[in-house]
Amino acid sequence: MKPLSPTSPPKLYSHLYVEKRVLNHPQTRFIMEKFDRSAIVLIDHYKEVFNRPNQSFAAQSDSKKLILAHKDGKFLHEGSQYSDGFEHPQFFYASSIMGCLYDCDYCYLQGLYPSANTVLFVNLEDAFEQLLPYLDKDTLIATSYDTDTLAIESLTRQTLLWLEFAENQKNLHLEIRTKSANFKPLKKMKPNQRVILAWTLSPQKIIDRYEHATPSLAQRLRAIKEAVEAGWNVRVCIDPVIYTDAFETLYPDLIDILFHHIDPSTITHLTLGSFRMSTPHLRALKKLHRSDVAFYPYEVSDDMATYPETIESTILETLVAKARTYLNEERIRTWQRQS
Ligand code: SF4
Repeated sequence: MKPLSPTSPPKLYSHLYVEKRVLNHPQTRFIMEKFDRSAIVLIDHYKEVFNRPNQSFAAQSDSKKLILAHKDGKFLHEGSQYSDGFEHPQFFYASSIMGCLYDCDYCYLQGLYPSANTVLFVNLEDAFEQLLPYLDKDTLIATSYDTDTLAIESLTRQTLLWLEFAENQKNLHLEIRTKSANFKPLKKMKPNQRVILAWTLSPQKIIDRYEHATPSLAQRLRAIKEAVEAGWNVRVCIDPVIYTDAFETLYPDLIDILFHHIDPSTITHLTLGSFRMSTPHLRALKKLHRSDVAFYPYEVSDDMATYPETIESTILETLVAKARTYLNEERIRTWQRQS
């Protein structure tokens, strides 16, 4: 075992908690090397820290901790009605991380987890094992579904491990969704045409107001440019759209800014969708009293809160009309409630 080196202090997380049972896992050793010894705490089970009662999500958001753990159960879950499976016969999301480095006011994770800290399950090899029986058919896996894996890639190399696994699995397609500006770790990888890097963009004013700790619009655009120039398939997602008074200018302008910087022919799709959330998650979000996003008078149908139909239609019609000035119909995807 390589000795722990008290190298540069971790920049992303203040402390590292490590379950004793994963102490000798190669992924644990890799991550531990980036933390000073004094910042590492051994624990028996991640729930001791992550599920502690009476935690303050808001207070923890300012100083997040990373917890390394072993996942005993299922890594793969069926893709949900809130997301697009792009017509792949099988669509799953992989849940190898709980929590996110970023802190978006509209994120359902705040209502889902008791803590703002991040749990990383290091035994990704078990996720690959669980996936193998499905790979006789074309399968899409969202690897960054309820987190942002690229945001912490330099610390965890999780995306890299997925890409290495995908290289030899001809039926496996990956979607790696991110708001990160961190393209650097992927620079050394050969682009895989079965992998989509999907960047979520918002107008800078929305980023400032709701997407705390995330890279600026300009930084994300630079990362997209690097990725397309390196030969990766890139999808851009303006989703969720947050409806504000300035919607009519902010979001169409965002599409103009996007295609001023990125050649429209170099992206595979533009995805558009308005804010939506399951009602239990929205209830939990309201309890936190962190943002006006939670208190909009949404319409609820089938346990899903969305903008009223007239507003949802205005959002999509406005943005699709603008997108059509750059892209043909087939490359514009929209999320709409099923009527
Ligand atoms: S980047 Fe995504 S997962 Fe992370 S806090 Fe924002 S919405 Fe949630």
